[in-house]
Amino acid sequence: MKVPPRSAQFDDVYFSVHDGAEETKHVFFDGNNLPARWQGEAHFTIAETGFGTGLNFLLAWKLFEETAPKGAFLDFISIEKFPLSAQEIKDGLFPWANDLSPYLDKILTQYPIRVPGFHRMVFDGRVALTLIFDDVNEALPEIAADVGAWFLDGFTPSKNPDMWSQNVFNEMARLSHDGTTFSTFTAAGFVKRGLMAAGFNVTKQKGFAHKRDMLTGVFKGEKKRKIQNAKPSILIQGAGLAGCAAAYVLKQYGFKPVLYDPNGIAHGASGNDTGLINPRFTAFRDGVSDFYTAGFAQTVRVLSAMDDIDYKACGSIHLVNDEDKRKRFTRTIENWNWHSDHMKYLSAQMASEVAGIAVEHDALYLPQSGQVNPAQLCRAYAEGVEMIEAIKDDYDVHILAKGAGSIGDNTLKNLPIHTVRGQITKIKATPETSRMNSNICYGGYISAPRDGVQTVGSTFQKWLKDSDVSVQDDEDNVSKLKQHIKISLDLEIVGRRASLRTAARDRFPIIGAVDEGGKVLVSTAHGSHGIVSSLAGAHLLADIIRGGPCSLSKSTIGFLRPQRFQKTKISC
Ligand code: SAM
Repeated sequence: MKVPPRSAQFDDVYFSVHDGAEETKHVFFDGNNLPARWQGEAHFTIAETGFGTGLNFLLAWKLFEETAPKGAFLDFISIEKFPLSAQEIKDGLFPWANDLSPYLDKILTQYPIRVPGFHRMVFDGRVALTLIFDDVNEALPEIAADVGAWFLDGFTPSKNPDMWSQNVFNEMARLSHDGTTFSTFTAAGFVKRGLMAAGFNVTKQKGFAHKRDMLTGVFKGEKKRKIQNAKPSILIQGAGLAGCAAAYVLKQYGFKPVLYDPNGIAHGASGNDTGLINPRFTAFRDGVSDFYTAGFAQTVRVLSAMDDIDYKACGSIHLVNDEDKRKRFTRTIENWNWHSDHMKYLSAQMASEVAGIAVEHDALYLPQSGQVNPAQLCRAYAEGVEMIEAIKDDYDVHILAKGAGSIGDNTLKNLPIHTVRGQITKIKATPETSRMNSNICYGGYISAPRDGVQTVGSTFQKWLKDSDVSVQDDEDNVSKLKQHIKISLDLEIVGRRASLRTAARDRFPIIGAVDEGGKVLVSTAHGSHGIVSSLAGAHLLADIIRGGPCSLSKSTIGFLRPQRFQKTKISC
């Protein structure tokens, strides 16, 4: 017998003791008339409450692969409040390891770190999984999508009533169109009544194995199914991180974007050879913090699978070097609610041990943080993408990702963006600093050594409009470093680079459509944390071009959209 994993918390099994895969087929596939529903369709969206081991997802992916039309695309959205670890999933699905090959391996490699919010993974240019680590009652109102079929798979309603609330059923109705179906293993009376009240016609069917009944149903409403956009031609202007990440992500969804940049790849602010991978910390959890969380989780996952980008998963120590940071970081840990494997508060002594060098302050520690060569990363992102030398053709969609070049662009003239000059200083590692195991951030930062060299950064000069290097800036970088970390020897400076980054008035990137029809999109103002924000932003651009579902929460999109400065309404 294929024994299912069991939740001690809910005193319930993740799937049937008889055969989890057979249960999925009976309850969810037959209950939603799959695969017949996606015959002749270019796109289909399934949403699930309760990801658990991912068995339903993996079987749906396999079924789609085997039966959907060539070139069709499956979006699968799933919500999970208590994510299992990748190892627990592997153990739980062990009995199906052969049947689920190669799908199981692919999800295990891409499975996100367990931090709350939206996580988007794209597989084989054919399937996108939007995994949302949150309570279903909080996650559903944040989703922008048009769902074709619902898999309701929370634990038994009597043991987990929160998952079967009227709020959940009403949100399902909001995300459904006329003809959307649902199915669930339960036949509980209050579930049936709640779904009917939300607008579903509900039918009792024979349940799986020993279960007498289960429920299926169809949504009846005015809203018509949203047809996804066909594959448009896409021009990306700007080959820095924002543009190259967009090209990389669009390719994953099966688009063939072209890149244009008269200065070549990574010429501007993305051209440094070392950049740190960190979120921007805020005291509270909101759409802004969720953006950095999603971007961070995605960046560490994607970069760790890439070659030739000098990626080093060395972790970062963020020193608590003033009272304001003590308050903020304490709240960050409490409110962001990251698993302690991913965010920890360390005493000065522990921080020194982790960093490999004495520090005098407590610290916020992100073990999965690291460093990468942004210029190399741009090249890796752009691999296989056509670079054009002049814009001759007409394109259906234009993405403006021109960094500092956005400022002179007539289309973007209403955006409140400005440049911020930044100079980094390269130093030769000393016997003390060469023992550093992690990056250390203190307002400025010093990277862990790579090939005996460390990067110290960065100046932050809003008032300077040039990218000429300056000796004074090196002195400022080094003196700031020495204020925070005791280094006895003189530091030998071996290089420097200055560039103009771009920032918005509210210090948050600007990503979205600038016109009504969604034909001109922008991704700019990635001034700080750009490695993280450009990748998450690229998925949002792909969502807009595809016509959803959204890879980020509605709250996050509200903070990113170009129209936020005019306070008009939101759409993905
Ligand atoms: N579909 C899963 C699979 O293929 O393995 C099995 C799902 S299991 C029956 C129910 C899942 O719902 C569990 O993973 C549990 O952690 C999750 N869950 C329970 N309460 C939740 C809530 N309030 N919000 C989101 N997920 C919840």
